[in-house]
Amino acid sequence: MKYIERVLEEIKQKDKDQPEFNQALEEVLKSVEVIFKKHPEYEKMAILERLVEPERIIQFKVPWTDDKGVAHVNRGFRVQYNSALGPYKGGLRFHPTVNLSVLKFLGFEQIFKNSLTTLPIGGGKGGSDFDPKGKSDSEVMRFCQSFMTELYRHIGPDVDVPAGDMGVGGREIGYLYGQYRRIRGISERGVLTGKGIGYGGSLARKEATGYGLVYFLLEMLKANNIEPAGLNAIVSGSGNVAIYAVEKAMQHGIHVIAMSDSRGYIVDEKIDLKAVKKIKEELRGSLKDYPKLAKHGQYFEGSVYDAKLKAEIVLPCATQNEIDIKRAKAIVANGCIAVAEGANMPDNNDAIAYYLEKGILFAPGKAANAGGVATSALEMSQNSMRYSWTFEEVDEKLQDIMKQIHEQCTDAMKKYRLDKINYVAAANIAGMQKVIDAMIAQGDY
Ligand code: NDP
Repeated sequence: MKYIERVLEEIKQKDKDQPEFNQALEEVLKSVEVIFKKHPEYEKMAILERLVEPERIIQFKVPWTDDKGVAHVNRGFRVQYNSALGPYKGGLRFHPTVNLSVLKFLGFEQIFKNSLTTLPIGGGKGGSDFDPKGKSDSEVMRFCQSFMTELYRHIGPDVDVPAGDMGVGGREIGYLYGQYRRIRGISERGVLTGKGIGYGGSLARKEATGYGLVYFLLEMLKANNIEPAGLNAIVSGSGNVAIYAVEKAMQHGIHVIAMSDSRGYIVDEKIDLKAVKKIKEELRGSLKDYPKLAKHGQYFEGSVYDAKLKAEIVLPCATQNEIDIKRAKAIVANGCIAVAEGANMPDNNDAIAYYLEKGILFAPGKAANAGGVATSALEMSQNSMRYSWTFEEVDEKLQDIMKQIHEQCTDAMKKYRLDKINYVAAANIAGMQKVIDAMIAQGDY
């Protein structure tokens, strides 16, 4: 479609140095043609141009000193993308690969993911190229304090509410929150989510993204009359999302036979999740120590997707662009029937096109991993009410939200008469239409 092609081309020219952002734009915009065919007036209102441009980008320096007294400077960012539906909401990522392209792709996707949750939150994302790996607790604390010393002036419970992402877990959120409270001089718990349970965190937030991913997977399998128990699964990653996806998958009788980290992967008929948790959550170590700790299983260097393991279910929960067309072909050749993304954009656009061509049930991250941000929004509600729900109450709400997201996808498939099962187009259409409606209603042009 000419309008979409034109906008994509303009951004490609303007943001030549932002490959991840261009990739995410292409994936989303090419799948929402039906919206723009139905509403030709959107072009005159420059809806797409307004959607693809962040409302605000903040970039700042983060100076900090290591334990030996040596000074370092990292880059800090916050991309406040779209607030038509509510305060900006989205995680902070601390990883050496963080740059503006990565954060704009994540922020853009976040707008529609948050819209799908049906909760009142806009989209944003932030982070730093700081690498927490190998740093002491006090180094991480000093970095977080310096990061917040700039960020605090741009956020607030009704403005922008960051959370965790890769490299930012409970420890980092605690240090960030402490510094915010110290500078602002008020106890404003709703400013960050993913906090510790003792100071305003929500039960089940830690588990939410992984559990939510499996709840979505179960809905997708049920809609296609597939029984999950007894199926084999490969899960990439062994961080927050992967660990709790494996926990919930196992509870439903799915056999997880492999997990991975940034260096290698483990293969084990009976994965010992306690051992994985110990290595990753307590020791912050490598999976290569797994066989020794679990006393079974094997560790290999390289990507789990090059191992040609036979599995019906694949849950990529590590990072973006892990799966290209070659790996997608191997996944399908090894018996896969369903892929559900716990990570953001782990499959590139060629891989997704291949799954759709082969009739693989494919759940895009925007829909399948929305349980984390949804539970963050539940944490915001609990903070406003000064009240805490039980684990079971939060988990029940999470299950309802994931069911609703699945329903929105199947409704969009019917309403827009998509010619095959296409959760990618359906999630993008359902998420985007609400944002466009809100922007127009608010005279945002
Ligand atoms: P963590 O930092 O907890 O875990 C990331 C995992 O991915 C680690 O096991 C890490 O290995 C592995 N990894 C990192 N880089 C690579 C690579 N290049 N190849 C293979 N594995 C790699 O992050 P999260 O679990 O929080 O996030 C994972 C993904 O899920 C991200 O895409 C994130 O944006 C997305 N997500 C997270 C949400 C959340 O609530 N946390 C919500 C929605 C999406 P190692 O241990 O060696 O570092």
